[in-house]
Amino acid sequence: MRESFELMLDIFLKEKELLRKKGWIVSSPYSYEWWDGLKSAEEIIISAILVQMSRWENVKRVIQSMREVGLTNFEKLYMTSDEELYSLFKSINFYRTKVKRLKYLAKITIDLGSLEKLYDRDILLSIDGVGEETADSILLFAGHKLHFPPSEYGKRVLSRLFGRELNNKREVKTMVENNLRKGIFEYKLFHAGIVTVGRAFCFKEPKCDNCILKDICNYTMK
Ligand code: SF4
Repeated sequence: MRESFELMLDIFLKEKELLRKKGWIVSSPYSYEWWDGLKSAEEIIISAILVQMSRWENVKRVIQSMREVGLTNFEKLYMTSDEELYSLFKSINFYRTKVKRLKYLAKITIDLGSLEKLYDRDILLSIDGVGEETADSILLFAGHKLHFPPSEYGKRVLSRLFGRELNNKREVKTMVENNLRKGIFEYKLFHAGIVTVGRAFCFKEPKCDNCILKDICNYTMK
């Protein structure tokens, strides 16, 4: 199985232009730009909350607006009135709830004294609206910690690729963390690659003929 993970890493690296088209910028291990060119850990954390049940294009526009007025700074975000944030977040689904969550998250970070202290899985999971996928995405892409985000894309792609049904997203995390080479670059690339395959080819009715993983996928060998 480890060999297949290595092969996938090679394929994802070779296909980095495709990954870019799907919003993943293959960068240096500790860059924040992996998430469609975002500029800071705070931007990634804010995006991870805003993107739930929302379109990424809208989230990206909101982040740009926040950046222009300095609102990606957690202290400033916390001090800003809800009404001001509502008007900024209008294009985001459930924006009122998300304003509440972001302000709470900003407050926790301020109370902890540093972002580094926020990169604790238990603390993140204790925050309303932060599930395992969001927590691990923050840990990996903002905190550069070796936690693999479990996703529905991962569940579908890896189940088909290995010809073995994964029952839940947690099994994705376990499988990847047990078999993927340990490295920040490798974890980020693998997540970006798997999500790209899920978004571009591995639909309910998969488009295997065009898929970048077709030569190593069990599903196409049935
Ligand atoms: S080859 Fe088909 S089943 Fe396999 S990962 Fe690609 S789209 Fe999914």
